[in-house]
Amino acid sequence: MPRAPSLDGHKRLTYLAIALCLLLVGALRIVLLGQSPQPDLSNLVLNGVVVALSVGVLGALLSGLVRLELIEQVGLGVFVLLALGFSLRLLLPGVALDMSNYGELLLLAVGAAAYLLIAPRPATVTVVSLTGLYLGVVWWRLLSAPDWATVSEQLICDLLMLVGLAFVALLGAHRAAWTQARDSARAMHDIALSDDLTRLPNRRSAYRAFEDAMRSEGTPVCVLLIDIDNFKRVNDTHGHEAGDEVIGEVARTLHSALGKSGSLSRWGGEEYLALLSGVTLTQAGRQAEALRSAVQHLKSPYGPLTVSVGVSSRLPGDSVKTLVHRADQGLYRAKAGGKNRVSQQD
Ligand code: GH3
Ligand code: MG
Ligand code: MG
Repeated sequence: MPRAPSLDGHKRLTYLAIALCLLLVGALRIVLLGQSPQPDLSNLVLNGVVVALSVGVLGALLSGLVRLELIEQVGLGVFVLLALGFSLRLLLPGVALDMSNYGELLLLAVGAAAYLLIAPRPATVTVVSLTGLYLGVVWWRLLSAPDWATVSEQLICDLLMLVGLAFVALLGAHRAAWTQARDSARAMHDIALSDDLTRLPNRRSAYRAFEDAMRSEGTPVCVLLIDIDNFKRVNDTHGHEAGDEVIGEVARTLHSALGKSGSLSRWGGEEYLALLSGVTLTQAGRQAEALRSAVQHLKSPYGPLTVSVGVSSRLPGDSVKTLVHRADQGLYRAKAGGKNRVSQQD
């Protein structure tokens, strides 16, 4: 099945289309201005800037060398500067108001980019300031020498722009609410799948990883069930909080000793489960021995700590339950054999 392009892919395509359109508009405008007997210099400069920046953005997008966020920030900055330049140039002597509708379009583009890329509050400040400046300049010029046909046309145009900006602001508010909902859904997802005390994946998360690992029939999967020895003694001697600290310490030790060889989760109480894919029972046994030794060498303020480990490897027809059950039998044997040891399935 063809894969849908990622959000970044969609963004790149959209920005490519925008940069191409701007390049065409700017180039066309320069050609048209060049044909007039007395070309408007400030207009030429403005369109030259548009062309140069569009080429720059196209190059950055096509080469893939520049981060998308940087292109977005620069793009927004350029739109803001263009809107500013556009308004201020209308103050220059001899510049006609004939391009004024471009100003409305430019402000709508600034609004869309701002509400899409930055938070609603700074976006509103940017849009309101630029719109205020633009409308102030245009209407100051219009009303200093009123021509009522132009005034009514400009009024309609500006009102439509304000409606457009209000709509864009509404979309911006929706985007902010959506981002908040997505972030809190992610946070809830993390809470649901991780253990508060150790920050390791919890049993629910381990089950998911298990199901993924067991999906393909042929993949060898091994399980290490790890249990702290005589843990109750820590609780009884130093208190429950010390017990919690020990559970965290052992989790960190196991996690760093395991590295990328497998995934570790807190299975419950003072038990952890390591899932190893693509390894034989012998390799898993060696890994279990390394974990056991790492905990034995851990210097804890609550006295020496050790773990016992039961190891099982997947057999044909195994389910998560049967595989863990055999690791549990191994753990039972390790405890019965004197603790601080590894016991593999028969
Ligand atoms: P063994 O060597 O046979 O494993 O003995 P043990 O003392 O480690 O195991 P036992 O099952 O007798 O006791 C485990 C204790 O762990 C009982 C329970 O109160 C305690 N425990 C379970 N979860 C937590 C926890 O999150 N924090 C603390 N502090 N204690 C816990
Ligand atoms: Mg124990
Ligand atoms: Mg236990």
